[in-house]
Amino acid sequence: MPELVDWHTHCFLHEHRTDEDRALWSQRGVLGPGEALPEQHGAMIDEAGVSRFVVVAIPKHSGNHTPPEFIADYVGRYPGRAVGFCSVHPDDEDAPEEFERALNLGLKGIKLSPTYQHVDPRGKASWPLYEIASHHKVPVMFHCGGAYTGNLEFSDPVLLDKVAMAFPDLKIIVAHYGQPYMEQTAILMRKNENVFADLSARFHRPWQLYNGLMIAEEYRVTERLLFGSDFPVRTTAAAIAEFRGLNDWGTGLAMPRIPEKTIEAILFERPLSLLGIDPA
Ligand SMILES: [Zn+2]
Repeated sequence: MPELVDWHTHCFLHEHRTDEDRALWSQRGVLGPGEALPEQHGAMIDEAGVSRFVVVAIPKHSGNHTPPEFIADYVGRYPGRAVGFCSVHPDDEDAPEEFERALNLGLKGIKLSPTYQHVDPRGKASWPLYEIASHHKVPVMFHCGGAYTGNLEFSDPVLLDKVAMAFPDLKIIVAHYGQPYMEQTAILMRKNENVFADLSARFHRPWQLYNGLMIAEEYRVTERLLFGSDFPVRTTAAAIAEFRGLNDWGTGLAMPRIPEKTIEAILFERPLSLLGIDPA
């Protein structure tokens, strides 16, 4: 059964982000007004005809935080269709308890960001979180690569190799395909079958994504690439249109094409069950 899943969307209230963060993002032209209120999120989900979707917390850092109760409440409006991922800061003493609490609220995964949170993903602060995720069989999503703040020292997706090896049953999602480190993400995925990557927030950088998909084809890892919009960066509908238009360069040059069947498979053949998630 074809199933359109948006693996990476955000929904948050104004107060879940700091003024500094909002100013920075709009200065870089990322989020426009920087809002993704429940009514806006719901309207865009209806417009796109999405079968299922994941609502991901903003990585908890520097005063930015989407409370798990908020996400649980929002996804609860879409029974069987929506699941939520929480975020905790690995350096917070109560991070493991906070993660357990989010799981008890019904959330089905966790988002971490070594870059934004200034945390080495191989460090011992994160280890209890991996153990909890592994025990409860829920995925860990990492924002790797480029960021507006934080520490780029921890941005390389290859740092996750140690985690992927230590927890072979843990499903890891490299968000944004590890931008711009797509080759690194591809070798990480080839070596570790438990590593996946989403393409969210890459559709406005078509040259980068085009090359990244060519690399994924060559390394034969496209079956673990997931579609995501990163709403409010893109609506799901806009992201799908841009994804399907990825081969349209209009240059008159005969460019190699990303196979249409690869694009359609990433859109429609990546059910939540692929990562062991039951939306019920
Ligand atoms: Zn995101």
